[in-house]
Amino acid sequence: MVLSVVQPVEEQSSSIIDSVFASRYVQDPLPRYRMPERSIPKEAAYQIIHDELLLDGNPRLNLASFVTTWMEPECDRLMVETMNKNYVDMDEYPVTTEIQNRCVNMIAHLFNAPMVETRNAVGVGTVGSSEAIMLAGLAFKRKWQNKRKAEGKPFDKPNIVTGANVQVCWEKFARYFEVELKEVKLREGYYVMDPVKAVEMVDENTICVAAILGSTLNGEFEDVKLLNDLLTHKNKKTGWNTPIHVDAASGGFVAPFLYPELEWDFRLPLVKSINVSGHKYGLVYAGVGWVIWRSKEDLPEDLIFHINYLGADQPTFTLNFSKGSSQIIAQYYQFLRMGFEGYKNVMRNCMESARLLREGLERTGRFTFVSKEKGIPLVAFAFKEMNSSLAFKLSKALRHYGWIVPAYTMPANAEHVTVLRVVVREDLGRQLVEKLLSNVGNALRELIEAPPTVPRITVTLKLRQTGSEGDGAEGSLVMPLTSMNWKQEESDIIHKEVVVMGGKTKGVC
Ligand SMILES: *Cc1c(COP(=O)(O)O)cnc(C)c1O
Repeated sequence: MVLSVVQPVEEQSSSIIDSVFASRYVQDPLPRYRMPERSIPKEAAYQIIHDELLLDGNPRLNLASFVTTWMEPECDRLMVETMNKNYVDMDEYPVTTEIQNRCVNMIAHLFNAPMVETRNAVGVGTVGSSEAIMLAGLAFKRKWQNKRKAEGKPFDKPNIVTGANVQVCWEKFARYFEVELKEVKLREGYYVMDPVKAVEMVDENTICVAAILGSTLNGEFEDVKLLNDLLTHKNKKTGWNTPIHVDAASGGFVAPFLYPELEWDFRLPLVKSINVSGHKYGLVYAGVGWVIWRSKEDLPEDLIFHINYLGADQPTFTLNFSKGSSQIIAQYYQFLRMGFEGYKNVMRNCMESARLLREGLERTGRFTFVSKEKGIPLVAFAFKEMNSSLAFKLSKALRHYGWIVPAYTMPANAEHVTVLRVVVREDLGRQLVEKLLSNVGNALRELIEAPPTVPRITVTLKLRQTGSEGDGAEGSLVMPLTSMNWKQEESDIIHKEVVVMGGKTKGVC
């Protein structure tokens, strides 16, 4: 006898739930505004969110950003292991605190900080360069105010001098902390701060001049040495002592490895603080930056909070309190794992990929380049005929192949130049560069070389015989005089310029 076992109903339904796609959860409308009343199984929650996220761009093909999109699986594992540690609990996690201090010291050494009297560098890990820049800016503002107060002079109109190419976080700093931002204008063919003009703009209310090592727009290094020399001269004449901050968000982990002879850091006496993004060429996922001060004297004591944890003094200077530890630990992993040698090789490979890309783009004969051979590994280019609408169209066409390559207009006074920018990160190897070039070629053919689309119009005329009815042997056909007019409309809006009053409008980072 064959024994046929039929599953009871309860068992059947529970086995159905094991398959998310066989469950009702994938059919129920997703809650968007209110927290749902009922719980759902974890597998369903995971699958639903995972699937919706498939429609985001692919981070590895996102060439708009400097921010790291690939790390070794061992480091991924370390980060997951440490995700539940709140960085601010320094007494509970003394090893994590020690690891951040090691990172600060290593970076300070890399930037040639003079650490004569103490082996402890002055600096702190932040969420990114933006927080680092707020902290550095605050230190300059407070130092300047203290000095002005001591001299019995007004201290209510601080300003900061930068190039118009600064990243949006400087504008944020200026607005949030009430400092006037004095920007040196750019011009066509010169897209960084002109040190001569910057020093001309310095006055007694200038808290610092901010130079950029690796301009966001074209990756170019500003001439910090020349700025230092000119400012030293002006300081001597005026007695003001205006300092320099270097925004090395992107270049701080490039220059020391590729251009060790370039003097841009604490080797220059007026450079009092430097920020760098650990999550850019520091090779860590988003969420870590660093700011280093030249010495203790450059960080006013009254900005530092001393937190007393069980008798241990823990000085802190950050804008936020709680944050994750993983990024700090990942930064230390990279330093330990890669060493100077590893970073140098990664940067060299990035430059090599950038060179290949540039050569390939040059071969199309269509582009002119605004990035330099020396600088951040990126390629910024414009159409030779300065056709900004084509630049936006190419950016959009590349999106169809999966690539994210931004197009943006330059700031004042070079607004008529529209640039496309490809950031080369370590995970953009030769194979991908060649693929990108071939896709650019196809996209160009589609955009430029494709014949203009003429609308196809089909007209049907119904003809009826007139004349002698009946035998049908003879007659005439009358065709009415016809004329047709049409106007071809742009099939879809590719780029719409929106004028935004004040503030940076560039979404590149
Ligand atoms: C990216 C960038 C910033 C902002 O840095 P985050 O780490 O993203 O906060 C500031 N300045 C420059 C020059 C940058 O390239």
